[in-house]
Amino acid sequence: MQGLLEETKFLMKKYNISANKSLGQNFLVNEEVLDKIVECSNINKEDLIIEIGPGLGTLTSKLLEKAGKVIAIELDEKMIKILNDRFYLYNNFVLINNDVLKLDLNKLIEDNRENLKKVKIVANLPYYITTPIIMELLEKRINIDSITVMIQKEVADRLTAIPGEKDTGAVTYCVYYYSEPEKILNVSNQSFVPEPKVESEVIKLNIRNTPIVEVKDEKLFFKIIKASFAQRRKTLLNALCNGGIVENKEKAKELLAKLDLDQNIRGENLSIEQFARFI
Ligand code: SAM
Repeated sequence: MQGLLEETKFLMKKYNISANKSLGQNFLVNEEVLDKIVECSNINKEDLIIEIGPGLGTLTSKLLEKAGKVIAIELDEKMIKILNDRFYLYNNFVLINNDVLKLDLNKLIEDNRENLKKVKIVANLPYYITTPIIMELLEKRINIDSITVMIQKEVADRLTAIPGEKDTGAVTYCVYYYSEPEKILNVSNQSFVPEPKVESEVIKLNIRNTPIVEVKDEKLFFKIIKASFAQRRKTLLNALCNGGIVENKEKAKELLAKLDLDQNIRGENLSIEQFARFI
């Protein structure tokens, strides 16, 4: 860890940088964790890697050695100067100074794909926008193979939970619908500069070729799931009424009876297959 810690401190001093908390800047300084992220991403020269939030370029330099091409998307202009200085000699490096949530990622991929076979997302994400980034990648069906990211542990628990079991939220169902999630590694706070206040975890989402269940109307499917979790303490029956899915309690009762579901069941107890039967 000493080498990377020294390098990070050196770069921050040289470029007169202090970590910007509002941009979620916690720089990774643990070599073993970096190696694990790269290893489990299974990167080779036929891959196009998209790194979100390269920061000082610590992970970027490892990705550049392994991948066919790396597109790094960084919002903070101060980092752009450092990244350009560090990697201008690499002809497989593309740097974009923008907010990842404002980009058309499918177009970016098509413009840069050349003959590269797989597209993979690898990142130590800015924690303040973890869920919007992952939802953007999944719901817009960005053409990718896998997402390997460092995120807040509490969010990792939710994203990798099994629908119908504990620690779930509406987002759990969305992740599970589009991908096979796996937990990779718990990461201690001392692995970052500055140390984050929350615990961290690396997870990998392996994107499914087709969603795990077939639903005719995805919009309605997710509307029902979101309505069920919007009022966690309420029964599914009440959530369906309050979320505007059915007109009144009688209709909700009929619907639950038709689906063989107990009138007192809560949404969080339903499997993804059971939600799919609503559509
Ligand atoms: N990859 C570096 C590392 O592992 O040391 C830095 C990771 S740091 C947790 C998150 C990075 O995301 C920061 O460099 C931050 O400036 C950048 N960032 C924050 N919001 C962003 C956004 N909306 N779009 C792109 N990058 C963003």
